Amino acid sequence: MCGIVGYVGPRQAALIVLGGLKKLEYRGYDSAGVAVLHANGGIEVERAVGKLSNLQERLYQKPLVGTIGIGHTRWATHGGVTEFNAHPHVGRNGRVAVVHNGIIENYAELRQEMAAEGISFNSETDTEVAAHLVDGYLAGGADLLTAVQRTLPAIQGASAFVFLSPQEPESLVVARLGNAGGIVIGIGDGEMFVASDIPAILEYTRNVIFLENRQMARVTRAGVAIFTFEGKPVQARVHTIPWDPVSAEKGPYRHFMQKEISEQPRAITDTIRGRVDFHRGRVVLDSVPLTPSEAQKLDRVIIAACGSSYHAGLVGKFMLETLARVPVEVDYGSEFRYRNPLITPTTALLAITQSGETVDTLAAMEAGREYGAKLWSIVNVIGSQAHRLADGYILMQAGLEIGVATTKAFTASLVDLYLLALHLGQLRETLPAEVLRRAVNDLARLPDLVGRVSEPLPIYDELAEIFFKREHFLFLGRGLNYPVALEGALKLKEISYIHAEGYPAGEMKHGPIALIDEVMPVVTVAPRDNVYDKMISQMEQVKARNGTVIGLLQEGDEIARSKADYVLEVPAAPQFLAPVLNIIPLQWLAYAMAVRRGADVDQPRNLAKSVTVE
Ligand code: GLU
Repeated sequence: MCGIVGYVGPRQAALIVLGGLKKLEYRGYDSAGVAVLHANGGIEVERAVGKLSNLQERLYQKPLVGTIGIGHTRWATHGGVTEFNAHPHVGRNGRVAVVHNGIIENYAELRQEMAAEGISFNSETDTEVAAHLVDGYLAGGADLLTAVQRTLPAIQGASAFVFLSPQEPESLVVARLGNAGGIVIGIGDGEMFVASDIPAILEYTRNVIFLENRQMARVTRAGVAIFTFEGKPVQARVHTIPWDPVSAEKGPYRHFMQKEISEQPRAITDTIRGRVDFHRGRVVLDSVPLTPSEAQKLDRVIIAACGSSYHAGLVGKFMLETLARVPVEVDYGSEFRYRNPLITPTTALLAITQSGETVDTLAAMEAGREYGAKLWSIVNVIGSQAHRLADGYILMQAGLEIGVATTKAFTASLVDLYLLALHLGQLRETLPAEVLRRAVNDLARLPDLVGRVSEPLPIYDELAEIFFKREHFLFLGRGLNYPVALEGALKLKEISYIHAEGYPAGEMKHGPIALIDEVMPVVTVAPRDNVYDKMISQMEQVKARNGTVIGLLQEGDEIARSKADYVLEVPAAPQFLAPVLNIIPLQWLAYAMAVRRGADVDQPRNLAKSVTVE
């Protein structure tokens, strides 16, 4: 959740670290800090509560000089949001500074033991115990890597650390324990970088190594040496990241979310590219290797995901069950991991995660592995944990997504699920050739259709002007568009802080109908599909109770239009691809509402882009 950056090389470390932290701003944080090793041999630390600009201001007043340094944006878990709780934390003898992402679960016991030994604490964080432990081993004569190695067995809970010590002024030591977010090591020319996410270092290098669970590394100007916690050297693979640094900039857009909604035609084109043989009318998904007999033996797919990816999974269930005739369960990663799930080797566990580092989804994958299931993932970040853990994967091709509220990664994952359903349908022989041919032709038309809804229209601002003071919204949909209603409601609540509920429209009469009155706007997702008539009658029921209907409907549908007070139009779309189009106006609506309410669109309060703590 937090951001970590480290630098060692010929340049001023504080500037590079601060620049990197800025690129991680989207992850959400409450305070930030930098530590640099000064030429006089001491650790210098600067920290500030609030936005990074506060830290930047401090560094401007009092520059930190040195060519090796670490920095952190904190998302407080233990101890309030104060300057003394902000990272980096320094060990008891000033021999080490540390930045930490995650939670030290047994920190209270460790702290108690240390307090009994007379060690005093400068913060309320869990992190500080790690600083004191490493410091103690350094004082005993250990080198930094050994001091860290000795400390790690005492620590429980998922964490990533970067340590800096004046005793070893040429090295940073990095360690990853569990799935508390990734650690990437960037390889430069005579300089090296460490970060919790790729955008922080993309300006300097595209060649990165991902640190695995229970690995640590010594990073110097000259390169990196990676070891297991047990000290065994590891030969790590260098990944070249295809994103260009420009994609990490806002360009002419006011917000990343606005840019990313607009990028959907490109993201969808890239998602389809190379995966469909338009000539033969088939899907080609080599990254999910499966023989026809393995595919036929599959008795179940379990989709594990969180947040918007869970909603994508609900759409995926329709696709996979209808096209590949395989039963599908969809579960939240956070629930799945604490169940006693029924998984067999003929089950496929499909994880959907934009970052590939969502801690609960990774735990679900691990449970799948334990029971011998096939592990698949749909993931946006190349080289992330969910990519590496999987036996078969589909890379989203959404490009770098920075806005905390996902948009293009959501629609890309819907298309990936469709490709997977067709791929399985081919292998399981559940798809007549003409159905497959039609599906492939539909995919060819999709980027154009998406292009028609990806432009901002005046109606979004008009609706925002009318409704921005409302505190509650209801979103209704059925069938494939029920998850669209859930996702539309989630978009609105996460960025504009309006309470919004998504509901399957048919369930309205079992409760939510009681909420409807003249101040409750109801968004209905009602394209002309197999449940269209039912949606029309639901719109009528809302009207009969003086509710206000914002109808998302198909272009030219005069019947639905006559039932709505306000209209959002989408082009007619093939059944399984309709959710891709239908969600986009709801993304725009949420965006316009948030802007009108003056909310922080790209960094909504309390939220982080990738959720790497439980
Ligand atoms: N648990 C640490 C703290 O509360 C680190 C939190 C983070 O990942 O930012 O300071």
